[in-house]
Amino acid sequence: MLLMRSRYTAHALVERAYLLETWHPNFRPRQLDLDARVRWIGLDIIDSEQREQSAIVEFEASLLLDGEVSAMHERSDFGFRQGRWFYTSGEQLAASFVPWKPGRNRDCPCGSGRKFKRCCAND
Ligand SMILES: [Zn+2]
Repeated sequence: MLLMRSRYTAHALVERAYLLETWHPNFRPRQLDLDARVRWIGLDIIDSEQREQSAIVEFEASLLLDGEVSAMHERSDFGFRQGRWFYTSGEQLAASFVPWKPGRNRDCPCGSGRKFKRCCAND
C-alpha cells in the first residue's frame, strides 16, 4: 500500500508534518515526538488487506539506535475518508528478532557498504 510506504519514508526523513497530515483527524496526536537519532534501515511488509473503506497493513521496520539494531512491528489500520487514505491507529507487536549490536568492523546494517564503526555506530 502506497500510503504505508510514504509514511515509512517520512519517518525515515523525520517529516512530522506529513505524518500528521496523513493521520486520520479522529486519531491524530496533538504533536509527534520523533527521535531524530533513530535511523530506519529496512521495511518488511508482512501482510496487507484492503477493503473499500479500510485497510490493514502489518509491517516490521528495522531501525538503528544507540548502536543497536531493533525493530518496530506493527499492525496498522487505515481508513478511507473524503477520497483519501488515512492512518488511524496501530497495534504494536513483538519484534521477530532480539535486538542485537553489530560488530564495529562488520558491514553497517543500514546497507551503506561502509564499516559499522565508520557509519551508524554513533561514536
Ligand atoms: Zn550505516
